[in-house]
Amino acid sequence: MRPFEYQRTTDESDAVRAATSTAANIPATDQPIQFLAGGTNLSDYMRLEVLRPERVVDIARLDRQRYGQIEVSQQGLRIGALVRMADAEDHPLITRDYPVIRDTLYLAASRQIRNMATLGGNPLQRTRCEYFREVSFPCNKRKPGSGCSALDGVNRGHAILGTSDACIATYPGDFAQALIALDATIETLGPKGKRTIPFAKLHRLPGDTPHLETTLEPGELITFIHVPSGPWTRQSRYVKVRDRTSYQFALASAAVALDLNGDQVRSARIALGGVATVPWRAAEAEQSLHGKPLNEGTAQEAAEIAFAQAKPREHNRFKVDLGKQTLVRALLETRDMKATSV
Ligand code: FAD
Ligand code: SF4
Repeated sequence: MRPFEYQRTTDESDAVRAATSTAANIPATDQPIQFLAGGTNLSDYMRLEVLRPERVVDIARLDRQRYGQIEVSQQGLRIGALVRMADAEDHPLITRDYPVIRDTLYLAASRQIRNMATLGGNPLQRTRCEYFREVSFPCNKRKPGSGCSALDGVNRGHAILGTSDACIATYPGDFAQALIALDATIETLGPKGKRTIPFAKLHRLPGDTPHLETTLEPGELITFIHVPSGPWTRQSRYVKVRDRTSYQFALASAAVALDLNGDQVRSARIALGGVATVPWRAAEAEQSLHGKPLNEGTAQEAAEIAFAQAKPREHNRFKVDLGKQTLVRALLETRDMKATSV
């Protein structure tokens, strides 16, 4: 690991000031200043020298009464960016009213990591693409214009949706699928003040610029996550398929939330993980279910639509079928959940 300057801050405006740099349009990995929250992703990638910040601004000691709390109201959830994954996973009202959120946390990483990792840091975790993590390989995301080693390399874990000829790296996180399915927004504080961003607009498709991963500006801090309530949040579920059943990232996953009238679909929300370059909302598949009974046939139809644009490579062709099967299973299991009553 390279030497870096460490700065601890207890005030959010100081944190933003400390992290503001003129470094727009350079790779996220080359940003000279990085926030440290739980540190589970940052320290890993700093050890590998994928991230080489000159300064690390530790935000873990910002006011916990503000940023370490989960507020539940009729409008929904307001989650502070410093809430630990484990605390949200154990929260009784999240378990009861937003089971899809609980599932995405419980099925991620290990309990030890979830005890450290924060919900502000989680959506910003970096891809696990092996060529991104090993700095001796060309990688457009780390070094723009150097090429993509995964295109003709080992690409079993890579994405089949939202890819480009410059990058096919999979977005690795789970929590983000719940957030995008439930229409969450994030609140930020940046050099230009506060703003609210729909979660669906946080991550950027790779296109020609895979090194620009999010729409956050340098120095912009995620402060809160808002999840609106709705008749679909209680009947929601996350199915994650992976090589081993713990401590592993998704090969394919699906977050589903349903508003049903009997077995008729009033509205369906679907997000896919493990198969796309960004948290992926399957809007056309959702539309295909509206007003129909949810059964194996309609679920399969929705899955075909969800993967109609899939672009597999040599080693990840299996993800097309696996992704469809995962979605069908998630839809039917969510239908069969007993939505709990207050
Ligand atoms: P940090 O490491 O502190 O920060 C991550 C990035 O976000 C940094 O760039 C940092 O500058 C930035 N950042 C942090 N907080 C903020 C903020 N409030 N505003 C703006 N920028 C911020 N995740 C899954 O979803 N599913 C898994 O199955 C899974 N398995 C894992 C297995 C292993 C072995 C490991 C090491 C990790 C795994 N993870 C998994 C990833 C883990 O969930 C993330 O590392 C963690 O959630 C990141 O949160 P953090 O608080 O530690 O972030
Ligand atoms: Fe780099 Fe993306 Fe190619 Fe992986 S898939 S080597 S992250 S450019």
